[in-house]
Amino acid sequence: MSEKTLILIKPDAMERGLAGKIINRLEDKGLKIVGMKMLQLDDAILNEHYAHLKDKPFFQGIVNYMKSTPIIAMVLEGEGAVEVVRKIVGATRPWEAEPGTIRGDLAIGLPGNLIHASDSPETAETEIKRFFKEDEIFNWNRKLEYYFERH
Ligand code: ADP
Repeated sequence: MSEKTLILIKPDAMERGLAGKIINRLEDKGLKIVGMKMLQLDDAILNEHYAHLKDKPFFQGIVNYMKSTPIIAMVLEGEGAVEVVRKIVGATRPWEAEPGTIRGDLAIGLPGNLIHASDSPETAETEIKRFFKEDEIFNWNRKLEYYFERH
């Protein structure tokens, strides 16, 4: 089923000039960009986004890292997009991420694992609303849509 997922291109990717490479990998797979913008995250949005980690000793480190540069937020759409993107992104800990994944090929430490991707369709819905207004999402159809669908 066609679904949407949220991606954040994190500060280490911005610093290292890897934003284009990361976007390429996701576009190459056949995912459609339906939202994209650059923004500076602040404490309020990060406390919400990483609420599930607020008791971890490294929580403030993540917040500082995520605020350290502007980031790129994207909404991608496609068949099974949430799971497909998580597979392309790879495991949270880059040293455990499989070669061939973004984190497996391009990252080695933490918190610098280059990219955030929603981990379930429910989370994706919440996260898309957290970062995008309704009129920032574009419902457009590609002429080649047929080739990206499951028939
Ligand atoms: P994911 O981003 O893969 O969904 P989590 O939600 O568990 O993973 O963690 C959110 C982010 O917090 C990670 O992507 C990473 O940037 C950072 N992080 C996770 N675990 C650690 C850790 N042990 N030390 C430092 N940073 C971490």
